[in-house]
Amino acid sequence: MALKDFIGNEHAVRFLRRMTERGTLPHAWLFSGPSRVGKRTLAIEWAKLLNCQSPLRTDGGLDSCDQCPSCRHLSPDRPSYAQTHPAVQVVDTMMAAYWEAVEKAKEPGEVDPAKLKPKLSLGINAIRIVRETLSHQTLWRYRVIIVDEAERLTEEASAALLKTLEEPPDRTLFILVSATPWAIHPTIRSRCQPLKFRLVPPRIILSLLKAKGLTDEEASLLAKLSMGKVGWAINALRDSTWRQAREHLFNLLNMMVKMSWWDVFKFAEVATRGLEEGESEGETTMASQRRQLEELLEGLMLCWRDVLAASFGVDDLIVNTDWLPMLRQVAKSPERAVKMLQELRRTYRRIRPPFNANPQLAFEILAIQAIESALQ
Ligand SMILES: [Zn+2]
Repeated sequence: MALKDFIGNEHAVRFLRRMTERGTLPHAWLFSGPSRVGKRTLAIEWAKLLNCQSPLRTDGGLDSCDQCPSCRHLSPDRPSYAQTHPAVQVVDTMMAAYWEAVEKAKEPGEVDPAKLKPKLSLGINAIRIVRETLSHQTLWRYRVIIVDEAERLTEEASAALLKTLEEPPDRTLFILVSATPWAIHPTIRSRCQPLKFRLVPPRIILSLLKAKGLTDEEASLLAKLSMGKVGWAINALRDSTWRQAREHLFNLLNMMVKMSWWDVFKFAEVATRGLEEGESEGETTMASQRRQLEELLEGLMLCWRDVLAASFGVDDLIVNTDWLPMLRQVAKSPERAVKMLQELRRTYRRIRPPFNANPQLAFEILAIQAIESALQ
């Protein structure tokens, strides 16, 4: 792919093209906005353009050729450890796990990336390796360091990165990517040129899905479920596990509605057990356990939002239209739906940095709140 194939957030693509054309680029960037809208993809595509050996001048503006040796080294679809561009490094929790495994391995070929589990944080080691790479001369036009989920940098790693940002090496760009930029060290944030991403309008996702050959009905349901996260929709096209994930969601919603004190532990166990099963079927960076957990909570929030809409009788706003009979059954009290939405939001915060709460425990608290919301 190239910049012309990027879907949504046209303002960001336009801005980067304009800046590239102008030539003098800020050395540190912060790409922020909702998850799964293409922040990391655009960072990789921009890195591609910056080093492309025969960039194209298209109607839309500058673009990479996507064919030269430099371009072929980079693909947003590849995991971080499989990117082979000598001047572009993607640092993420998977890469941190990879580096750790390489250091521990006796033979270089011993590391099996399929068995890696993403780290919970980006530690000092990640930044040390980046600094080591930057200490060598390069013949490439730009060196680009992309730090995905930059909010996961530890205190120590943040301090090391800050030092590098304050003495920036020549022709080197840092792109920090984050869905929760407020959790990034404020001094680092202040050094970065911000670029904000937005959710992608449903009509754009709908036409993308139809162009990929989905029926109107399927495309409409998926576009609604994606809630503006185009990356989720694209992933759903090639990976049907979202259907199982949805069944799982439906079971959990059912349990939440009828929750009794005896079910608290069972609910938390069922919620987190489903994630482990998904993981054993071959883990990818995007489908890591934490990401699944966040998506599960986002899914539950969407369900309770639907319950709220159903309780007011505004069916047009309901996303999970195929679950309408069940949603109507639950929708007796809007107050309960509002309470559950607030509690889900809290659980979501708890499991993310800087708190990183134990998922089992977080879901137990959620279960207790589900019972209390029914009692009131
Ligand atoms: Zn190229």
